[in-house]
Amino acid sequence: MAAVEILITREQTDDEWMRRAACKGLTHLFFPAPAERPQARERREATARQVCAGCQVNTTCQEYARDHHEYGFWGGESEDERHAAGYRLIAPIGVRARSAG
Ligand code: SF4
Repeated sequence: MAAVEILITREQTDDEWMRRAACKGLTHLFFPAPAERPQARERREATARQVCAGCQVNTTCQEYARDHHEYGFWGGESEDERHAAGYRLIAPIGVRARSAG
């Protein structure tokens, strides 16, 4: 198989799991609004966590977010939890600010 075919197959596979995401249409639960307060973040992430718990691609999603240093809530994990698990964010400004308090 040619390298391009492998890449195309890989891209199709990567996209395929996203089509089965339980969070479609719920972006507001998975990424913070500007200037989100800590209590609002806790409530938003608790609701997102419940959605992820019932999602059939949870493990794939979590691995994707860890590998790609994603921001936001993915695969049942917040960016703080991913960061603490050793999957560092590229610019962890919010993580530093939240852990300094
Ligand atoms: S695990 Fe959570 S963030 Fe990932 S696709 Fe499923 S619902 Fe969306």
